[in-house]
Amino acid sequence: MRLLSGALGATVLLLSACQRIGAPAGPVPLPATTPDAAPAPASLSAREGAIRDYVRAHHHDDVTLLEKAVNISSGSQNTAGVRRVGDLFTQELTALGFTVRWAEMPASMRRAGHLVAERRGTKGARLLLIGHLDTVFEGEGQRFVREDTIARGAGTSDMKGGDVAMIAALRALNATGALEGSQIIVVMTGDEESAGSPLELARKDLIDAARRSDIALAFEGGRAARASISRRGSSGWTLNVTGRQAHSAGVFTNGYGAVYEMARILDTFRRELAGDPTLTFNPGVVAGGTTVQRDSSGTALVAAGKTNIISPTAVVQGDLRFLRESQKDSTRARMRAIVAQHLPGTEAEITFRDSYPAMPPTTAGAELLARFDAVSRALGYGPVEGDPPESRGAGDVSFVAPYLTGMDGLGVSGRGSHSPDESVNLNSLIMAGERAAVLMDRLINGPVLERPRP
Ligand SMILES: [Zn+2]
Repeated sequence: MRLLSGALGATVLLLSACQRIGAPAGPVPLPATTPDAAPAPASLSAREGAIRDYVRAHHHDDVTLLEKAVNISSGSQNTAGVRRVGDLFTQELTALGFTVRWAEMPASMRRAGHLVAERRGTKGARLLLIGHLDTVFEGEGQRFVREDTIARGAGTSDMKGGDVAMIAALRALNATGALEGSQIIVVMTGDEESAGSPLELARKDLIDAARRSDIALAFEGGRAARASISRRGSSGWTLNVTGRQAHSAGVFTNGYGAVYEMARILDTFRRELAGDPTLTFNPGVVAGGTTVQRDSSGTALVAAGKTNIISPTAVVQGDLRFLRESQKDSTRARMRAIVAQHLPGTEAEITFRDSYPAMPPTTAGAELLARFDAVSRALGYGPVEGDPPESRGAGDVSFVAPYLTGMDGLGVSGRGSHSPDESVNLNSLIMAGERAAVLMDRLINGPVLERPRP
């Protein structure tokens, strides 16, 4: 998330993709250092116990890998750095029997591309594991610094820590024979924090992988007692308003001008459409006057005018977040209808732009969460509940939601993501590795999950 102040003092709030919103301010609760000494013996099979022990025994290796990854700067714009983090994880995945390729993006996108790794097999659920290689932080200077069980640095929790948890889980599964015959695709995107454009191309490899998978597990920031099986989609809108320019003395007789029409539209949106907690529409930037200019980034609007002139132009840029595509469509229709009821002497038009699709709640998702909850309890980490969908921003898992059953939040716990004070609780790396590994083992080798929705 970045804050930009526009020329008019208008403030632009940019939510980068994995930003969690609605999370409690202040410290995020961290998981217990280690699970209760002896989880009920009956709850883990012998192999699952071996998987857990392997993750614990290799914690030092995982921290070393995380340190290497964090010390390669990889802001989304740093294509060489993102690629180098990809190379680091490629070595790990190749050693685990994955065939790894690099999905290049066109130079005009100015993004590094993605790591795509695959193990082919036919046993159990076909898994898609999602991570990302880039960080919000651009530049050098946020290197890995360990203080006891806390490590600071760019990407420690968002989400190089999650990537390492994924690799730790795969290593443990490989070492115990649990990967035999499995079909797994790993996609680590290089531009999650600032997705490349056009989005259809930037997410094509991820979506292609989803079409060949049954279940997606995403390793964004995790909390001990929460996972995410439903998230809202997001989209953007632009409102362009025009009015007849004239002397201000005639504002209620010669036409209301663009600013009053803009105000009418925004206030009617709020009065008529607000109230459903799963639906929000936020006017992020407004500008109105005699002229309005946009900068090349599209994030700054510059207005000029005089108080004695009825404003001929106004522009609003906003977002729209929704839990279902049908809800998105019906809301857009109502917004268009409100826009069309012009005040005298004004015109207005609203346009919409798709961004992240919705990941609505499903019964298959609830079953996947129940499996994860059982795994967490069996490992001694306690119950896991679903995040309220409105509490999370959009993430890469949203792009695959239309094709399979997904769950996010399998990663590590930390503080200060998207800030210079980012850190990770290294004990959560053990928790995340153990829980992901045992869950994957059950999905590959256990009873088949109810067939996901088409
Ligand atoms: Zn992230």
